[in-house]
Amino acid sequence: MNINFKELANKYQTPYYVYDFDYITKQYQELKSAFRARKSLISYAVKANSNLSVVKHLGDQGAGADCVSIGEVKRALKVGIAKYKIIFSGVGKTDDEIRQALEFDILMINVESEAELKRVDLMAKELDAKARISIRVNPNVDPKTHPYISTGLHENKFGVDLDTAKRMYIFAKQSDNLDPIGIHCHIGSQLTELEPIKESINIVAELVRNLSSALKIELSFFDVGGGLGIVYDDETLIDTNEYAQVILEALFGIDITVVCEPGRFIVGNSGTFVTKVLYEKVNGAKRFVIVDGAMNDLIRPSLYDAYHKIEVLEKTKTKSSCNVVGPVCESGDFFAKNIELPITEHNDLVAIYSAGAYGFTMASNYNTRGKVAEIALEDGKDRLIRRRETFEDLIAHEEDLLKN
Ligand SMILES: *Cc1c(COP(=O)(O)O)cnc(C)c1O
Repeated sequence: MNINFKELANKYQTPYYVYDFDYITKQYQELKSAFRARKSLISYAVKANSNLSVVKHLGDQGAGADCVSIGEVKRALKVGIAKYKIIFSGVGKTDDEIRQALEFDILMINVESEAELKRVDLMAKELDAKARISIRVNPNVDPKTHPYISTGLHENKFGVDLDTAKRMYIFAKQSDNLDPIGIHCHIGSQLTELEPIKESINIVAELVRNLSSALKIELSFFDVGGGLGIVYDDETLIDTNEYAQVILEALFGIDITVVCEPGRFIVGNSGTFVTKVLYEKVNGAKRFVIVDGAMNDLIRPSLYDAYHKIEVLEKTKTKSSCNVVGPVCESGDFFAKNIELPITEHNDLVAIYSAGAYGFTMASNYNTRGKVAEIALEDGKDRLIRRRETFEDLIAHEEDLLKN
């Protein structure tokens, strides 16, 4: 990736996110081809980066969409992703969301509790529909990742245990309004070890065999979730072919389509957040580099203590320890602590790498800061894919409600 960040800064101002669409294609193709021995659907996890142009780019390659709100489902439909490639997951779907998902006739609703299954049954009945569902199993396996992005342990709120899943499949089979077609598990994000994935896939595959032999429930979709990690620092990654192999082996002899829902793997390293230096200052012994981007633009360091590689562009010499911080009025507003950077000057550009996933999508307007511009790079050409928000955008939902 060879991006002229300075030229983009001149053209679009800072801060901005830039995404390399060719890299996104490459990541998608790599995973898709790892599963070539089977029918497979790569359903991109929209929450990682839900910009319409990003979702469309993946849809154009053939990707489906894994959505965790009806808003994300609408984004996927809006850019032309076929309804039979859209999955709706999440622990807390509202009645309204369930109803809309049924009306959109998407591939399946991923159910995460017995109570929710009953709501889906009822909603489908009211609409005189048959709801295609999958059930999210929580295999109680430790994915060995950050606790905030771990989802596959019983102590996490996600999915149901094996016995509950079995009861739910029986209930679904007996209902006129439910069609159990899939099974799902997703044990966490930024996974860098294959063993926990293997363990959980085997547990779920065993359940698939069980459902078939004991209950004559034949599923069509085996959804292995997402979670593949990426390099932020010096992580050793899971090999995608080995990953696919583990899944294909677990499913030996079962006629089922594999669904995989990667988010971070596809877009994480496509993106860079670019911000510029406002000031430097020293408080006691501590050096601070204050930039125009902040935690409201990229919250991962503040929220997860996540590491992002940071570089001052066009400067290499004389490094010393500093904290890189934004203007937001929180001590938690930092991009990095105690890293070595050259001494900077006003307007120097700072690149924060690996920001394509859970960057812009987690942005907020805290401190009445407009969300930044998003830029795509494709075939060596840049284009704006989201305008920088203006002050007028920020007050639009309040202004006309002011009492005079
Ligand atoms: C967040 C999420 C994903 C994507 O996770 P990544 O770590 O970004 O690959 C996939 N499936 C479900 C159900 C999710 O909630």
